Amino acid sequence: MFARFFACGVLILAMPGIACAQDLGTLNPKPLPPLANPSDPNTPAKELFGRKADPAPLASRALGWYAAGCLSGASALPINGKTWQVMRLSRNRNWGHPNLIAMLERLSEQGKKVGWNGLLVGDMSQPRGGPMRTGHASHQVGLDADIWLTPMPKRELTRKEREENSAVMMVAADRKDIDPTVWTPQHMAIIKAASEQPEVERIFVNPAIKKALCRDAGDSRAWLHKVRPYWGHDYHFHVRIKCPPGQTDYCKPQDPVPAGDGCGKEMDYWFTDAVLHPKPSLIPEKPKPPLKLAGLPAACRAVLDAPAPSGKPIAVQPDDTSLEELEPASELPGRE
Ligand SMILES: [Zn+2]
Repeated sequence: MFARFFACGVLILAMPGIACAQDLGTLNPKPLPPLANPSDPNTPAKELFGRKADPAPLASRALGWYAAGCLSGASALPINGKTWQVMRLSRNRNWGHPNLIAMLERLSEQGKKVGWNGLLVGDMSQPRGGPMRTGHASHQVGLDADIWLTPMPKRELTRKEREENSAVMMVAADRKDIDPTVWTPQHMAIIKAASEQPEVERIFVNPAIKKALCRDAGDSRAWLHKVRPYWGHDYHFHVRIKCPPGQTDYCKPQDPVPAGDGCGKEMDYWFTDAVLHPKPSLIPEKPKPPLKLAGLPAACRAVLDAPAPSGKPIAVQPDDTSLEELEPASELPGRE
């Protein structure tokens, strides 16, 4: 527990306005109260998209940027597969572009062959994508998914377990390496398998995990290229796929990952005293104003306004105001 709080503390100090993963879900999600004036242009977009329980029945499109966009024609990852289970069902975040769903299903099968029993899938996107009321700057266009660094057990988890179980902390208390008592070769194998999926553009892991991968990869190193160190990600890895082919008119791609395996001097930054033990700032940083609908692609208004498929329930989302975890909208300025 101490390690977890310590890690969270460091993260909060380093990146104000964020908290940590592992927030519990709830068995009784309550509908959010309707907005008094949803058409007010100052309404944060997360309040609008956070109230949509169903996908927009339009063509499947990733609209905008990973951290400023939305998703039409989303598909849901079924909550149970032979080789995956979805966690935190109360969040209703198991939605994505069909390419993401296909990739996750394929990865889960390939993972089984390398000794990873199955995927426990965390947050993907909301039914219509967009900013989220809790956690994640990215995950807005249906191309991002969090996968627990804990393999699926050989049985179906109960609803309660899916809301309340925690993934295993992989980073040592001093934040300088993985915890060797919990890290296994299969952890590397599943991250490698994810990196080798052709649609995958980047994978975000804690720097201590990247360090371990660099050390243990041996001669087969090409897959390390896509695996990027980032804040947090102690318990899960984040898989980001490319803009779907043919959608680059409205889906904004991220800059290509720099050449090389990323295991050289560029790792040093993450283990400097300033990063591992950041000093609290005397002047609290002002939180960024939340994204408004006007800050998203114009098509996101139509996504929001599309009538829900008939007979579907109204919005049900946990009224949970805690933050979950910083997600990589992009990477550190100046480091790419
Ligand atoms: Zn994520």
